[in-house]
Amino acid sequence: MILKNNSSANGFSYKKVAEYKNARAGIIYTPHGKIETPAFIPVATLATLKALTPEMARDLGAQALLANAYHLNLRPGPDILEVAGGLGKYMNWPYPTFTDSGGFQVMSLGSGFKKVIEMDSTKILDSMKSDEDVAEGKSRIAFVDEDGVTFRSHLSGEKLRFTPEISMQIQFKIGADIIFAFDELTTLMNSRKYQEESVDRTFRWAKRCLVEHNRLKKANPKKPYQALFGVVQGANFMDLRQKAARQIGSLNVDGLEFDGFGIGGALEKNILSDIISWAVDQLPENKPRHLLGISEIDDLFNGVASGIDTFDCVSPARVGRNGAVYTPDGRFNIKRSKYLNDFGPIFSDCDCYTCKNFSRSYLCHLIRSKEMLGSTLATIHNENFIVKLIANCRKSIIENNFSQFKDSFLRRYLGKTIYS
Ligand SMILES: [Zn+2]
Repeated sequence: MILKNNSSANGFSYKKVAEYKNARAGIIYTPHGKIETPAFIPVATLATLKALTPEMARDLGAQALLANAYHLNLRPGPDILEVAGGLGKYMNWPYPTFTDSGGFQVMSLGSGFKKVIEMDSTKILDSMKSDEDVAEGKSRIAFVDEDGVTFRSHLSGEKLRFTPEISMQIQFKIGADIIFAFDELTTLMNSRKYQEESVDRTFRWAKRCLVEHNRLKKANPKKPYQALFGVVQGANFMDLRQKAARQIGSLNVDGLEFDGFGIGGALEKNILSDIISWAVDQLPENKPRHLLGISEIDDLFNGVASGIDTFDCVSPARVGRNGAVYTPDGRFNIKRSKYLNDFGPIFSDCDCYTCKNFSRSYLCHLIRSKEMLGSTLATIHNENFIVKLIANCRKSIIENNFSQFKDSFLRRYLGKTIYS
C-alpha cells in the first residue's frame, strides 16, 4: 500500500512502501515532485539530456535528471543558473533535479592524471598500485590538500580550486533539489594507506559541507529546500566502507544531518553487491541511497537487490549515440551494415517512440551518416530501456517477485548472443 503525501515541512522526505529481502521500493518527495524508487536518473551533464527535449525525457519515463556541478560551473556558470531561477527552470524541466558535487570530474576529467578509473581489480597489476601514477602523455594537474583540490579546467587549462565550501556555493546557486557533498574520489589503484587518509579527509569535508550548506540556507530562507546527500567512499575495503558509512550516516553538526547518501568512488564490479551492502548496513533506514555512475544491467540489478534507491549514469545515452542499443537479448551495435537490410524495430516488444515508428535500417543509416536524429532516436530507446527496467524492478519488489524478475531477465540478457 502506498500512503499519500509524506512530505515533511521542508518538502523533502523518503518513505519506504515495500521491501523484498534487502531491496526496497519507496518514494522520495522533493519540492519539485516525487520520485518513485528504485529509479534510474538520466544524466543531463550540461543541463540537457543530450539530443532530447525535456518532453522526450519525460515521455520515456524519466522522473528526475542529474546535472553536473563541475561542468555547469565552467559554462554557463552558476550565476546564470541562479538568475534564471535554478536548474529546473533554466532547462524547462519542472520535475526533480540532482547535481553531483564536481568531485568526480575534478579528479578524473579535470585532471586526467590517473590512467583509468578501473573498476576491475584483475586488470590492475600490483606494480600500478601507486598514488603517484600518471597517465601516459599526461602530467599531474590535480592536487589534493587538506582544504580542497587545485586543478586545471579541461576546457581552458585555467587553474581552478574546489573546496567543500565552494562546491556547496556552486550547487546552491544551481539550485537542484538534491545535491551531493564534496568528496575525494580515489581509484582502485590507490594504496590502502591513501584510501584510509582519503576516507578521513572526505569525512572532514562532509562536516564542512553541512556547515556551509546550512549557512547558505539561513542566508536565503526563501529558496526551495535542497536536500544534501553525504558521499560514502572507502574503495573495495570492507572496514573502510563500513567506517565511512557509519561516520557519514550518523554525522550531526549542530542538529544538522545529511538528507540521504551517495555511494561512490572505486566500485569493483565483481564485489559490487558486497561493497553496497557494507555501506547500506551502516546507513539509516529512513533516508534514500544513491549509487553514483553505474548502469550495466547486472550492476543495476545487484544495486537494487542491495537496497539502492536511485542510480545515475551517462552510459545509456553515450553508447546510444555511438550506435549501441539495448534489447532483452543483450546489447548490439546497430551501425553494422547488415542492419541496413533489417526493417524491423530495434526490438518488437519495446514501447518507446523509436521502436514504434522507425526501423533498424533507418537508425543504422542515420547513425552511420552522423545525422543528429540518430542520436535522438537511439537515446530515447536506451534511456527508455534502462528507466523502464528499474521501474519494473520497483513493480516486482511491490509484487514480491523481484528475485524471479531479476533471474529471468539476466538469464535472457546475458545468456543469448543472437545479435553477434
Ligand atoms: Zn525502443
